[in-house]
Amino acid sequence: MNVINEGVREIVSSLKEEGISFSDLHILITGGAGFIGSWTCDVLIEMGARVTCIDSLVSGQMSNIEHLLNNENLNFIEHDISKPIYFKEKFDIVMHMASRASPFEFDKFPIQILKANTMGIWVALGIAKEHNARFLYTSTSEVYGDPDESFIPTPETYNGNVNPIGPRSCYDESKRAGEAFVKAYELQHGLDTRIVRIFNSYGPRMRTGDIYGRVVPRFIDQALKGEPITVFGDGSQTRSFTYITDQIEGILRLTSMDAKGEVVNIGNDKETSILELAELVKRLTGSQSKITFYPLPKDDPKRRCPDISKAKRLLKWKPKVSLEEGIKKTIKWFTGAR
Ligand code: UDP
Repeated sequence: MNVINEGVREIVSSLKEEGISFSDLHILITGGAGFIGSWTCDVLIEMGARVTCIDSLVSGQMSNIEHLLNNENLNFIEHDISKPIYFKEKFDIVMHMASRASPFEFDKFPIQILKANTMGIWVALGIAKEHNARFLYTSTSEVYGDPDESFIPTPETYNGNVNPIGPRSCYDESKRAGEAFVKAYELQHGLDTRIVRIFNSYGPRMRTGDIYGRVVPRFIDQALKGEPITVFGDGSQTRSFTYITDQIEGILRLTSMDAKGEVVNIGNDKETSILELAELVKRLTGSQSKITFYPLPKDDPKRRCPDISKAKRLLKWKPKVSLEEGIKKTIKWFTGAR
């Protein structure tokens, strides 16, 4: 069985064990052809939901969902969610997942990113309001910016340390504005909303290449090609990498619950330095690549690690896949053993 099917089945069986069901619900997913969106489509369809997937395909990819196109429970619409769209058929749940997320895209497409998380979420919230649907927003650990050391691990109550005009501001500030939109619809219209803050999820279907590559797919791609592995700075900056199956399971637990107004960190709480990641990828690919060092980009957060006590308590969720296991699965997918 391929790595993705195996992962989807694991998520489905874990959710079913908890008595979670999405059967017969009609769910709208914006950004449904993206990395997180397409895994969500797969799991929900496997669980008997009907999914309407919207994607502008500027960064999402048809190849992520083409295996679902003949499925009667998937309706794909190519559309930019920052422009209004109307539906007659009722939705039970709206999940706003559309947005580019790679730092390499921040100086190439800052306006698209800002629109997806402001005008886009406004359109998505309007649809949820019209249909009286539950609303889930995939926000990000980037709302915390470069957290003060005393807030590592970072709890949901930390308000962040963000540069409003820096190179990452199109993403960080628009995600923060997106959260404010969610809160406004909850306050003014009583919408049943919830926000997940995602921490560096990775796995099969992540894009690589110059502008799309987040650190995990870049390092794997470089290692497999025998090219230098490009560590920025001295590699001492940390991230907490979350394998996609853990990420999706957490998101869907939060979506399924009676959790109106909740904001929850979902991420692995094992902090890893970028140099450790480079060494791990080199070892697991058996690569001869050299590890090379480049200047650290401006405003690159020094440490990122979630406090996940709320997710453990509220969702009975904790990460199951270690970094080594997750990287092995991702390498398997990259090498074509899909
Ligand atoms: N990074 C790196 N080499 C690369 C790409 C990224 O050292 O080729 C670093 C980057 O500077 C950051 C970390 O890896 O410290 C994670 O980068 P990513 O692009 O995945 O996203 P971020 O977590 O910064 O949003």
